[in-house]
Amino acid sequence: MTRLAADLARLAGQDALREGAEYLHDSTEMQGLAGQAEAVVAPPDVAALQAVVAWCYERGIAMVPRGGGTGFAGGAVPQGGVVVSLERLDRVRGLDPEAWRVHVEAGVTTGRLHRLARESGLYFPPDPGASEQSQIGGNLACNAGGPHSFKYGVTRDWVTGVEAVIGGGELVRFGGATRKDVAAYDLRSVLCGSEGTLGFITAAWLKLIPMPESQIPLVAGYPSTAAGVAALRRVYGFGLRASVLEYLDAGAVAASAAAFPGGLPEGTRFLVISEADGDPAGAHTLAAGLTEALEEGALRVDTVDTPAGRRDLWRWRDGVSFAVRSVRGGKMSEDVAVPFDRLEAALEVCEEAGRQVDLPTCSWGHAGDGNLHATFLIDAADKNQVARAARGAELIFAGVLELGGTVTGEHGLGLVKRHQLARQLGPEEMRLMLAVKAAFDPRNLFNPGKKVVVGSS
Ligand SMILES: Cc1cc2nc3c(=O)[nH]c(=O)nc-3n(C[C@H](O)[C@H](O)[C@H](O)COP(=O)(O)OP(=O)(O)OC[C@H]3O[C@@H](n4cnc5c(N)ncnc54)[C@H](O)[C@@H]3O)c2cc1C
Repeated sequence: MTRLAADLARLAGQDALREGAEYLHDSTEMQGLAGQAEAVVAPPDVAALQAVVAWCYERGIAMVPRGGGTGFAGGAVPQGGVVVSLERLDRVRGLDPEAWRVHVEAGVTTGRLHRLARESGLYFPPDPGASEQSQIGGNLACNAGGPHSFKYGVTRDWVTGVEAVIGGGELVRFGGATRKDVAAYDLRSVLCGSEGTLGFITAAWLKLIPMPESQIPLVAGYPSTAAGVAALRRVYGFGLRASVLEYLDAGAVAASAAAFPGGLPEGTRFLVISEADGDPAGAHTLAAGLTEALEEGALRVDTVDTPAGRRDLWRWRDGVSFAVRSVRGGKMSEDVAVPFDRLEAALEVCEEAGRQVDLPTCSWGHAGDGNLHATFLIDAADKNQVARAARGAELIFAGVLELGGTVTGEHGLGLVKRHQLARQLGPEEMRLMLAVKAAFDPRNLFNPGKKVVVGSS
């Protein structure tokens, strides 16, 4: 055992030490990204985490907070230092169904929270796709979204309070169970989306809502992108409050169609998935409105009217990313976002980037939020293809910024996109971002080199 590991064991317990390659990568492993660390520790509780943080901070040792390791930006991939896994902070501190709220520790998985809420007739809408592995702390740290964000917003919109351990090991708390609170600067929101660069999120107070009685998905196949995008526009134009508005382009359809439950219409080159929810009568009225909006130009519009059908559909949707990856054994995805009315232009930016670097592309994502998973299909072992995909990504970033968009709509900057922030922000905005980082983490020891690159401006 190294000296460092022995010290961490003394602070957090012998059984807190972890080993294994799984702590050295996240979902960017698909791009061949893995890191290295001096040690991995999983403190059993907040007090032990505080002791580890205080000890490391004093000695200038970098720390990488780790949730479920499902991130798509390399945020949890260590570049040295100590990986601190939140997996054992998994207590539900309080569930109060009558007040529609829950107080959970960071290591509770997203899927467990969904089930916990459902058992009380309640609903926690943020639903990033790897919910059985991702943790609430990771969801807050990435401000994760998901298909239902179109109607319900992203993780931050459900957080009324955050508890965190910051430099020096101090425990701080912003907000709590109170639903409205404007007393202070909104540091609770600053921690949401901070990607482990400002401290360790240890717990959150979350809002819940009554579970919608009915959830009716609709699936519409189109022969072209233009027909599909026109249908998406009509959903907005008709003022329909769908809970979901997703799309898959021709390449994503081709990669995943074989597993689509029940099969897709022949000739589908653009797919729209929507969902109506609410009380049974309201959901049915909304589903009828959505059908009307989606059917012009469609090959077919299907309504999924059984719980088993809905479960199969969403399970298939969660697998789209893996189906796309399997086409050539690897992929490089960017989760850019644009204003909704620029979606078609953004699709064209992605296709043009593919042509420029001579790689096949496809995209899918949260159409209603203008959020594209723009993807280059590559053989991840081929360095030349990886380099071309990286060049293509630069073209996509430039294109979406011109459209008034962002380089990341939900996965964050992490390690892989850390240099893109200065491109999106002006020098004054960058200065303020770095000042926030310095205020929380003056020694740059929380996930250094991720999100904001200290010393870069
Ligand atoms: C198949 C698949 C589908 C996905 N679909 C979506 C989607 O629809 N929408 C979406 O937004 N994302 C999606 N993701 C990405 C990912 O699941 C989310 O970003 C998720 O929130 C990451 O949570 P995690 O616990 O796995 O975090 P990790 O990957 O462990 O970490 C992510 C970042 O958060 C930091 N972090 C983790 N826990 C803490 C903590 N307690 N305190 C401080 N910092 C912390 C890490 O340092 C890192 O920077 C998907 C991923 C996969 C693999």
